[in-house]
Amino acid sequence: MSHSAIIAGGSIGGLFAATLLRRAGWEVTVLERSDTELSGRGAGIVTHDALNRLIAAAGATTDDLGVHVEDRVAFAIDDGVVIRRRMPQVVTSWDRVHSLLRALMPEGAYRLGVNVADYADRGDRVAVRTAAGETIEADLLVGADGFRSAVRGQMLPQVQPVYSGYVVWRALAAEAELSPEVRAGVFPHFGMFVPTGTQIVGYPIAGPGNDLRPGHRRYNFVWYVPTPPAALDDMLTDAEGRRHAISIPPPLVRDDVVAAGLDLADRILPPAFREILRKSERPFFTPIYDHLSPVMGQGRVALAGDAACVARPHVGMGVTKAACDAEALVRHLGEAPVVQALTAYSAERQPAARQAMQIAQLLGGMIHQAPAGGLNADGRSNPNAETLLRNTAVVPAPEGLVPVG
Ligand SMILES: Cc1cc2nc3c(=O)[nH]c(=O)nc-3n(C[C@H](O)[C@H](O)[C@H](O)COP(=O)(O)OP(=O)(O)OC[C@H]3O[C@@H](n4cnc5c(N)ncnc54)[C@H](O)[C@@H]3O)c2cc1C
Repeated sequence: MSHSAIIAGGSIGGLFAATLLRRAGWEVTVLERSDTELSGRGAGIVTHDALNRLIAAAGATTDDLGVHVEDRVAFAIDDGVVIRRRMPQVVTSWDRVHSLLRALMPEGAYRLGVNVADYADRGDRVAVRTAAGETIEADLLVGADGFRSAVRGQMLPQVQPVYSGYVVWRALAAEAELSPEVRAGVFPHFGMFVPTGTQIVGYPIAGPGNDLRPGHRRYNFVWYVPTPPAALDDMLTDAEGRRHAISIPPPLVRDDVVAAGLDLADRILPPAFREILRKSERPFFTPIYDHLSPVMGQGRVALAGDAACVARPHVGMGVTKAACDAEALVRHLGEAPVVQALTAYSAERQPAARQAMQIAQLLGGMIHQAPAGGLNADGRSNPNAETLLRNTAVVPAPEGLVPVG
């Protein structure tokens, strides 16, 4: 007899769980709140071996997954090279990974516009209630409904996101619009700028429609900016005066907030990154939060991906972590009945989530560290530059940060 699962959330975490469960013979229904197909606004995703392996395990191809970058370069305020290290990696986009997995879901198994309201774990089954009042029963519920998860909110109401003290501005610039200097000097690299008090990470990704042809790609710009809570309050307030909780939809960010971000960039960033930002589509910001669930399963309900834990983007692990959660969940479900399997799943994945979160906090904390007796406004004397270059967006080693030297 086949088992059934409901997945709350049809983003990348939900789709990894859905596709891997289906391959293991489960009957799966994904309930996604959004009325329209999801889009990641082209956000860049750094790939890792585990992600490639699990995309293939889900049944999708990893051919043409993204852009190959050969090295990492830390730039100074005058665009000069401070450090260059060979670290080949493939960088892709959120949309690319999502669409590969989405295409594997048969008609009817992925329902848009269905908001999971709550659930009742009845011991032998779990009943999921939607905001429209529908009740659906299954053997398992997976809460893959992101960092503001309704499923986690019911299971672990004490777990709340904690603001890190900084936001990330993101933007995408078309390769064709960039000057020859920036296209040659910055575009091909995984680039960083690491002065004290702010930080940039950037890399090339595919253009619209996964276009990997030179001249048709885009540059993914990620800029961390310390922002006190009072200033964040203002940034989260839209033009109608409405204060948004946690984060604000990009189209609602006020023009003066975007203008202030661009002004700050003009004052403190190197010319190449300023050009990339100025030539980007409208940049948008996301406040950075941490949260970690003490358990990732209870009874017949599992948490996966960002619903269980958010590791700040410095480790670039969000998608890979969600994929590894799904892989572990399905493996344990193949070895034991649901309730025992979820206990074993939680015991395996919660410490991994904790480690990713802690390494990301360490890397994030380095934004503020100044060299002894210096300012490092030019990005040339960051005491942690090498550590940042080697550890940003790589899978944490079992022992933590990759040592330098
Ligand atoms: C600046 C930045 C850079 C990043 N860079 C990287 C990177 O390089 N590499 C990487 O791997 N990750 C990166 N991430 C993180 C990555 O985007 C997420 O970790 C990843 O998308 C997690 O997926 P998820 O499915 O768990 O959650 P989400 O993507 O948040 O999806 C949750 C889904 O659940 C739906 N939902 C919510 N509530 C309900 C409900 N009640 N009922 C039904 N559906 C619901 C939502 O609509 C959404 O579709 C980055 C993030 C940021 C902000």
